[in-house]
Amino acid sequence: MNCIICGNPVTKNSLEHIVPEGLGNKSYTLDLGSICGTCNNSFSNFEAKALSVGILAMSKPMGGYATKKGKPAKGESHGLKFEGSKNYIKNQVIVSGLTEDNVIKTNDDGSYVVHIPDFDKNEVPVSKLLLKIGIESLYQSQRALYKVTNLEAVKTYLDKKSNIDWPFITTKLKPLDFKPIPRFQDKVNLKKIQCEILYKTVNPEVFLINFRYRFLSYLINIASRDMSWIAPYQAADDTLGLCLLKKTK
Ligand SMILES: [Zn+2]
Repeated sequence: MNCIICGNPVTKNSLEHIVPEGLGNKSYTLDLGSICGTCNNSFSNFEAKALSVGILAMSKPMGGYATKKGKPAKGESHGLKFEGSKNYIKNQVIVSGLTEDNVIKTNDDGSYVVHIPDFDKNEVPVSKLLLKIGIESLYQSQRALYKVTNLEAVKTYLDKKSNIDWPFITTKLKPLDFKPIPRFQDKVNLKKIQCEILYKTVNPEVFLINFRYRFLSYLINIASRDMSWIAPYQAADDTLGLCLLKKTK
């Protein structure tokens, strides 16, 4: 069999988690032989970056997960460091490096409301991760749809060592009219880790993937770099700072 990303023959079987294991996914994987070792390795690289630095950095410690070495998950973004609870309690995160700029208000009980910027300077690893999740989930769960969707541009992008951004947005609102990609037990298992993968076809140039993890939706156009779809979401989302747009070069 040939690799679904680069087209080269698959010589050894390596297990590819469609949603990173680090986000709690144990069972939603590609069929063995779908992806080559070279692609699997390069995916691991940007996955590790996407989960430890930037917007996803806090989701991991918040989930109460342990690292492979059995320690609380860590991450960093904008000079802040996040560390999960020592007892792996969900939604408990130790944040260090906060400055006055992060504090929005002080509550009567002495606690603070803090603002943490969502995006790091470089979210290329996150956009790559979203595109990878999109391709792989379509291939695994919606083969007919996978076959009729033009994924050549995104495959080439993932296959090359490119640092150019592929635009995506995040929103706290639940986007409308999306349909689930994983089916049956896969869908149920992902729900248990508060994860959903959905799609919406707009036109041949716009095929949106909505990766929803915990409280946040990530939206990306997997068919092309066309950005016409973004404006309506920006207009509808007044949670400023949560709906950001990446520049393209
Ligand atoms: Zn490959």
